[in-house]
Amino acid sequence: LSTNEHLEPHRICVCVRKRPLNKQENNRKEIDVVSVPGKGTLLVHEPKQKVDLTKYLENQTFHFDYSFNETATNDLVYKFTAKPLVHSIFEGGMATCFAYGQTGSGKTHTMGGDFTGRQQNSAKGIYALAAQDVFTYLSHRRYANLDLSAYVSFFEIYNGKVYDLLNKKAKLRVLEDDRQQVQVVGLEEVYVSSAEEVIKMIQQGSACRTSGQTSANANSSRSHAILQIALRRNDRATTLHGKFSLIDLAGNERGTDVSSNDRSTLVETAEINRSLLALKECIRSLGMNSDHIPFRMSTLTKVLRDSFVGEKSKTCMIAMVSPGMTSCEYTMNTLRYADRYIFI
Ligand code: ADP
Ligand code: MG
Repeated sequence: LSTNEHLEPHRICVCVRKRPLNKQENNRKEIDVVSVPGKGTLLVHEPKQKVDLTKYLENQTFHFDYSFNETATNDLVYKFTAKPLVHSIFEGGMATCFAYGQTGSGKTHTMGGDFTGRQQNSAKGIYALAAQDVFTYLSHRRYANLDLSAYVSFFEIYNGKVYDLLNKKAKLRVLEDDRQQVQVVGLEEVYVSSAEEVIKMIQQGSACRTSGQTSANANSSRSHAILQIALRRNDRATTLHGKFSLIDLAGNERGTDVSSNDRSTLVETAEINRSLLALKECIRSLGMNSDHIPFRMSTLTKVLRDSFVGEKSKTCMIAMVSPGMTSCEYTMNTLRYADRYIFI
């Protein structure tokens, strides 16, 4: 834990990760329209058509703090995104890390990891890697005099409602008191003593997330999943010292499928768009050191209020992109949302 062992993060870090072409895309012989020429840059070769109907590819360049190509492992992505934030919560800060992108772009792979057993080496995601580092720090003498303990909560926001993934998907209320403190009433916060315990809870919570699909639309890609690791002071009546929020966001694709003019899908999509817009506005305000943070715009930003206020708040956004030509429009939307310059 020497000073050069961790990177001191900026308040806001925006990164992009490109996943490899998957089996279906390869079977369809889809071309890869995304390239990562170097640190921080990403190119999209966008298919265009001239007036005379000849087709061509137009290069669009985007800049980020880091860009990861299809060979990057979860370990590598973690090292440059969430890892530096672990240090911040031990220093008494609030940290957040978001995975943003269309469904199928790799958000859950990056955050939750792959527990299917197919990829033994890259099984761990950012949730588990961060939990491991939290326990490494906890055992370090530098933080011993703080007498800290770690607590975990894991919940989902679907259609603006909060469901506790550590308590049988209990539906919870979000309240704001007269000092603007936001509370999720009754949210389970479980004391944890090892990274293995956290990983087990993540697996159970994630299973609860997908198996609890009763209505056709209650799909995990339509909800935000939020894992929080809180550090509390044992010697000070468990007052909060720092908190890390790790968020697997709902898919950002718009409901462009015209055949699904089903009302509940439209409401769902409108809610997702609203929360992602609210998130962008809050991160932007954080970046400008603005006094006004529009956190009331959505349930997502309300429950993350503490992450956007306070001098020690830090955020990392990882935008995920699919490389295939058929995803190009979604990829462009994702990159426009996350473009570094918007957040300066
Ligand atoms: P999302 O959560 O954004 O909908 P997933 O994380 O479920 O997407 O990813 C979709 C599929 O692609 C999964 O089968 C996942 O294992 C695979 N995948 C995603 N990212 C990668 C990657 N970087 N390397 C290998 N496979 C990946
Ligand atoms: Mg997912």
